[in-house]
Amino acid sequence: MGRLIVVSNRVAPVGDEKRNTGGLAVGLLGAMREAGGIWFGWNGQVTTTAAPLARQEKNGITFATIGLNKRDYRQYYSGFSNATLWPTFHYRIDLARFDRNEYAGYQRVNAMLADELMTFLQTDDVVWVHDYHLLPFAQACRKRGALNPIGFFLHIPFPEPQVVATIPPHQELMRAMLSYDLLGFQTETDRRAFLNTIAQQSGVQVHEDGSVHAEGNVTRTGVYPIGVSPGHIAEESAAGRDLSRQITRGVSGDTRKVVVSVDRLDYSKGLVERFCAFDTLLETTPELRHRVQFIQIAPPSRSDINSYQLIRKQLEAEAGRINGKFSDLDWVPIRYINKSYDRRTLMGLFRNAQAGFVTPLRDGMNLVAKEYVAAQDPEDPGVLVLSRFAGAAQELDGALLVNPYDRTGMAEALRTALSMPLEERQARHAGMLQVLKTADIDAWRNRFLEDLRRG
Ligand code: UDP
Repeated sequence: MGRLIVVSNRVAPVGDEKRNTGGLAVGLLGAMREAGGIWFGWNGQVTTTAAPLARQEKNGITFATIGLNKRDYRQYYSGFSNATLWPTFHYRIDLARFDRNEYAGYQRVNAMLADELMTFLQTDDVVWVHDYHLLPFAQACRKRGALNPIGFFLHIPFPEPQVVATIPPHQELMRAMLSYDLLGFQTETDRRAFLNTIAQQSGVQVHEDGSVHAEGNVTRTGVYPIGVSPGHIAEESAAGRDLSRQITRGVSGDTRKVVVSVDRLDYSKGLVERFCAFDTLLETTPELRHRVQFIQIAPPSRSDINSYQLIRKQLEAEAGRINGKFSDLDWVPIRYINKSYDRRTLMGLFRNAQAGFVTPLRDGMNLVAKEYVAAQDPEDPGVLVLSRFAGAAQELDGALLVNPYDRTGMAEALRTALSMPLEERQARHAGMLQVLKTADIDAWRNRFLEDLRRG
């Protein structure tokens, strides 16, 4: 079996595997270790001069990383990736911008990464590329003569054709995606949207099995919902429980119920709508005042982009308004925290919370929803309130599904969650845990790689 080369925008810091990496990185590292693999991509640093490819070995894996210069970072990362593709693929065309120079930068960095890959690519290597930063990466590799199997997994949603069409070079980008041998999506909805988009391009044939035939190439498509490691999470949540109990007790006393949300601070996560729903809950259910504590952990991300600065301001205003309205000397309803926590603390916090409130406006999967379920005590589990627009909603049918644009509906679901009888909670949880165990992170990665290698 040839080596596995994983290519992603960001490579997890070497040597910090446990602390900084979530299930995805751990799952991928496992696969690379088995196959003697290489993880290739950006090291997360912005350099003033061009830095050569750095290689580091650790536990049988080679980390091959490069820095980006300021212009590359601005155009490829902050620009086309995160100010054009990210908002558009999350249906926020109101927040998307297009700039030809940024797009040129995006293509340039993909080409530069392909040049670097070619310096160490061997003929029997298999290449697995991740996410929207690298849509044209395989095309750039093919132009440089790579004949290897190259697969791609999209972690974020794929939007409907009319939404894709708002990106001026959409046809070029879609064509470029057809240089991959296998394209993986989180849900059937995403795969369908991609195939519908592709079907509108001339000279392209979409077959019933979901394969696309163009210019002599065949690109297969598949659905691979990313999973978590329920076993690890159960251990982490048990280990973190006492620590997080101290935190929640300090905040709320033992009799208060805890509602928890954890999201990167991003406009796709529906945070403002969620705060408003909690406001509605307290307005309409006075008996819950003093009795419920909402903890929102929201570490800032991409804070050099305008739309992220704006959402942060909006949230601060909403949290202040709601807390000002309801707080008392011994109770502050929303604990809004702008920092990140290690996984053990988070999983312990999940286990102590009677409701997980996960309501993105749009999300490829949302791992937090799955982690919340996996972290529960099966004897006394909490209830997941989940947006129907998260990929996870297609698997987690024991959750209370909500429309994040309906604040009254979300408030009602929270009320139901907080008063749900034990038996119903156990039944809903058991079904979902089974799904998580069957379709865990190892199954996800093995299915994708088997399909890619099968050719
Ligand atoms: N996470 C974390 N610490 C934090 C906040 C989040 O480790 O303070 C983790 C969280 O447990 C989850 C991941 O970051 O594994 C977020 O993944 P998700 O799919 O929910 O959202 P994304 O940020 O990828 O859009």
